[in-house]
Amino acid sequence: MNRIEHIAFAVSSLKDSIPLFEKLLGTPCYKTEEVATEKVNTAFFKTGESKIELLEGTDPSSVIAAFVNKKGEGMHHIAFGVDDIEAEVKRLKEAGFVFINEDPRPGADNKRVCFLHPKSTNGVLIELCQEISNP
Ligand code: ZN
Repeated sequence: MNRIEHIAFAVSSLKDSIPLFEKLLGTPCYKTEEVATEKVNTAFFKTGESKIELLEGTDPSSVIAAFVNKKGEGMHHIAFGVDDIEAEVKRLKEAGFVFINEDPRPGADNKRVCFLHPKSTNGVLIELCQEISNP
């Protein structure tokens, strides 16, 4: 794992939270993107070499909407950047970690992503993400 790529917050409303985080971080939101397969809208902010990602459910059946309903808004996951996601999944599985999805799936911001199950990581949802290199 090469760095903390981003920290993600689940929010009720990007419309309300984007200006809040712009004020908090002192930097503009540089990208918003819908990930239809995950039923989320995302917004990104740069903070040095890491990013902050805001997640808003687009449908009551979205995992983010369910999270906000159950626990309220708050920190949702930490994402580590990796150079070779298949190799990292293999290494972590061999070390006994449990994945929610061990086959990388498309994520926001030009990434392939896998999530570890929080029950194997002290209750914190962890994402591995690899930048998709442009040909
Ligand atoms: Zn993420």
